[in-house]
Amino acid sequence: MSFFRRLFGGQDASQSPSGTQAYFSKEWNFGLTLPSDWETLDQPESNLGWTRLLRVAGPRVARERAYLSVNISAVLEDDKNLQKYMDKVESDLRRAFPDFKPDTRQERTLLGQPLAWMTYSYRLEGGQRKEVNATMFLGRKEMILLQFVGETEAERWTEDLRRFESVIESLKFGGIGVLRYPNLTFHGVPACELCDTSTPDGKYESVLILQVNRLAPVCRGCCARLTAA
Ligand SMILES: [Zn+2]
Repeated sequence: MSFFRRLFGGQDASQSPSGTQAYFSKEWNFGLTLPSDWETLDQPESNLGWTRLLRVAGPRVARERAYLSVNISAVLEDDKNLQKYMDKVESDLRRAFPDFKPDTRQERTLLGQPLAWMTYSYRLEGGQRKEVNATMFLGRKEMILLQFVGETEAERWTEDLRRFESVIESLKFGGIGVLRYPNLTFHGVPACELCDTSTPDGKYESVLILQVNRLAPVCRGCCARLTAA
């Protein structure tokens, strides 16, 4: 599905094609189209600088279910080096899983932004697992990494990878294409970047506006206006 169709037309999030369900996070202002037999598990948690926004599980058809997590992290970075990022992920995984085997490494795009796409396998007590790690690089300098991690049993990989891929590609930001970042509040900014008004408490919401691809400090009023569907 093209970027333009997703942002400016095509399927509305509330009108799901059959066999799918729409997910939308008001807090972060993003949505996904999930398979209808997947279950949303409410497990927000923070780990190693990442905040988990969502975890969904596939139906119980094998020993272990398929899981897909969506994680987010804000980092300061001067260059978006997807290869360096994938090197780091690989070496972390190699340390965590002795049977780690890399499979594919690609540079893709999602909503027009760079996406690091990796697949690999490792062994757990329950058997061989395969995983996709797709990380989207948003913004400049003050960057947001939006990461999807999908894991399943090796035997179910081909089928589940197709589902993971379709969920990842269904990503859209609400409003005019704005991702909210409620965990990050701007201080010491002279004024709201959009309406040029100063807030009484000097605090500003942070939003990433896809069209300019930058994290911007905005007042509460502008934030509400930008993210209104
Ligand atoms: Zn404003």
